[in-house]
Amino acid sequence: MKAIRVEEFGEPGVMKLVEVPMPEPGRGQLLVKLHAAGVNPVETYIRAGTYARKPALPFTPGNDGAGVVEKIGEGVSEFRPGDRVYLAGSSSGTYAEYALSGVAQVHRLPEKASFAQGAAMGTPYATAYRGLVQRGGTQPNDIVLVHGASGGVGTAAVQIAVARGMHVLGTAGTERGRELVREQGAHEVFDHHATDYLASIKKATGGRGVDVILEMLANVNLGHDLTILAPRGRVVVIGNRGRVEIDARETMSRDADIRGMVLPNTPPDELASLHAALVAGLDDGTLRPVVGKELSLREAPQAHRSVLEPGAFGKIVLLP
Ligand code: NAP
Repeated sequence: MKAIRVEEFGEPGVMKLVEVPMPEPGRGQLLVKLHAAGVNPVETYIRAGTYARKPALPFTPGNDGAGVVEKIGEGVSEFRPGDRVYLAGSSSGTYAEYALSGVAQVHRLPEKASFAQGAAMGTPYATAYRGLVQRGGTQPNDIVLVHGASGGVGTAAVQIAVARGMHVLGTAGTERGRELVREQGAHEVFDHHATDYLASIKKATGGRGVDVILEMLANVNLGHDLTILAPRGRVVVIGNRGRVEIDARETMSRDADIRGMVLPNTPPDELASLHAALVAGLDDGTLRPVVGKELSLREAPQAHRSVLEPGAFGKIVLLP
């Protein structure tokens, strides 16, 4: 089968499309024929060798994908060959024609969702749900700011928050991105590059502030986020690319929390619960992943450059 291989950490060009042996599912594993693989920012950090967790070389990148079950290993009774599924993790990597996953990493993909949409579930939707519901502790009627709402996690978070009855504010850096955020149901949309946008957000809450902020770029925004929180407000740090200075007094005066998260820390029972909610959302149509760009597997280097560029527009996927 064809797969992207990384032989050494480095620039996007270290990802090469090569022929590799077809993996065989072991006990509790499934082999899935992929129709789409999701591209996430974290895979660029791993490829560059700058991420805390470094895989052994050589490796095939990718945690997310969607396709059809090809083969099941011993002890797998939850799925059969031919089932449509999405993957939220893979031991062999999803930038490939086929991928191996453990049964707990495989979830039913409803007919309503395309394979490209399924490739948006594993990391972005799971992160959005984890941040908003499990870490953020949001409730219907809360005011939520999705700070960076135009990308994979942001569009997911807006859809989930709207479906759960929250008042949703979102930001994006381009007009095209802001229009996309509005289309996902955000009640008000702001430009995170405008000089006065924080004041506009505060004003949009009637001066009370925001209950929960889902933060995609904490190194730029965390200090400012604290100033627009409501009493007992929370900032959930999802994305961060450097150091940041904050005034801790802003948390004291509000009894506010800063809550970090990384998806791999999610306990198995909470992960299973989260994916059950996501599959239900695909079934009832409240979750509709936005696929902004489709590239071939060979174009993985281009996908890694694009996912870090400004002007996000939903999800980037690779089509094997
Ligand atoms: P993405 O699709 O590339 O989207 C990036 C988002 O960040 C876009 O909405 C972008 O908006 C926005 N952004 C850019 N500059 C910003 C600013 N100054 N203030 C606020 N937002 C800004 O990436 P993603 O998949 O949604 O992931 C978002 C971040 O979360 C990444 O850093 C990723 O590594 C991280 N992440 C963390 C976890 C975790 O477990 N903690 C899981 C998944 C992702 P414009 O392009 O419109 O400016």
